[in-house]
Amino acid sequence: MSADEQELPARTGVALRLDTGDRLRVVNTHGSQVVDLWAMAADDVLESMSMPHSRNPWFRLAPRPGDILVTNLRRPILRLLEDSSPGVHDTLIPSCDSERYRQLGAPPDHGSCTDNFHAALRAIGVDPPRAVPNAVNLWMNVIFQSNGTISIAAPVSKPGDYVLVEAEMDCIVALSACPHDLPPVQLNGIDCTPHDVAYAVIAHS
Ligand SMILES: [Zn+2]
Repeated sequence: MSADEQELPARTGVALRLDTGDRLRVVNTHGSQVVDLWAMAADDVLESMSMPHSRNPWFRLAPRPGDILVTNLRRPILRLLEDSSPGVHDTLIPSCDSERYRQLGAPPDHGSCTDNFHAALRAIGVDPPRAVPNAVNLWMNVIFQSNGTISIAAPVSKPGDYVLVEAEMDCIVALSACPHDLPPVQLNGIDCTPHDVAYAVIAHS
């Protein structure tokens, strides 16, 4: 981990304020961890990064370097600047939550990205929306097949892969190291074990 990076422990979340032009690097330290990334306007958490609105001009399922991610009001909020991984990220599947884990038969106290989102915003003094916004699920490998079905496979990223995004407006971003650990779904890698990741904010100079 480089000197400017903070560790985000497995199964936890964090929220950060970014000014326009600030950059956020998210590092897949162990290579197989999915990280949900949300962004909301600094002055209105109900204006949030939206995957359907973002995919519309991309005409692709996942962003590539140079692509802009927009809000539900179609305003640019983040731009993907760099991606050292093969670029496999999910924009289709909603963040995990306690109801989804109940459906999957997990223990009632199983953590979730939605719980992490709510806790992370409260930790910086922001009242979070009850309904979690769309995230881009970094490194989540959702395979869309020509017959219209989708499936989840292990990430194809490698240890140390990173993405770098830049804030296009003053915003709040949140990250969750997804706690999914339920085999046989290899969402967080073939060992079905959540791992820590790292992040760094590079302030606009
Ligand atoms: Zn999750």
